[in-house]
Amino acid sequence: MARYIGSECRQCRREGMKLFLKGNKCSTDKCAFERRNYAPGQHKDTRSKISDYGKQLREKQKLRRIYGLLERQFRRYYEAASRKKGVTGEIMLQYLERRLDNVVYRMGLASNRLASRQLINHGHLKVNGRRVDIPSFLVKAGDKIEVKEKSRKLKVIVQAMESVARRGGVAAWMEVNPETLSGVFKSVPNREEVGLPIQEQLIVELYSK
Ligand code: SF4
Repeated sequence: MARYIGSECRQCRREGMKLFLKGNKCSTDKCAFERRNYAPGQHKDTRSKISDYGKQLREKQKLRRIYGLLERQFRRYYEAASRKKGVTGEIMLQYLERRLDNVVYRMGLASNRLASRQLINHGHLKVNGRRVDIPSFLVKAGDKIEVKEKSRKLKVIVQAMESVARRGGVAAWMEVNPETLSGVFKSVPNREEVGLPIQEQLIVELYSK
């Protein structure tokens, strides 16, 4: 699957906010955004006024980058959300939150969503007792997610669990057993619970043009 291979920290600097793409490093003074809080590139970003389109575009890029998706994948969530009844922006966020790579990250089993995706691709995860190696798999309320028994001692998982508190802890909508490295996705989070500093309405406006 195609994926972005550039610098994660550059994306934070581009968006003017911390996107927390590198796990533990993001909470230390090694964070590139803390050290160089200006847009990357030779000329930096000297534009003082940004158009409405520009604002919508930046908001979309932030959210897309947080979940580590390419444009085509990301847009599919908007399109699926726009076909449902309800607030499109919130439903789009809920789709993104239900992705297995995000759920594994929110459980604390990986230090960031990219690491989570690698664990899944390598077949270390099970959902409801069956191996799932598709990061975009959509988790439902009540699903049980667990690390396969023979993968439970993997250093990358152990270290991620040890530092989960530093990354803000396990999501409130997950019930996690740190002994068995398993958890239940209790319910789909609402907008408030997702808590990202994003104006998703601007993204809806952008795509609905
Ligand atoms: Fe962004 Fe994390 Fe890099 Fe800081 S360390 S710039 S938050 S990816």
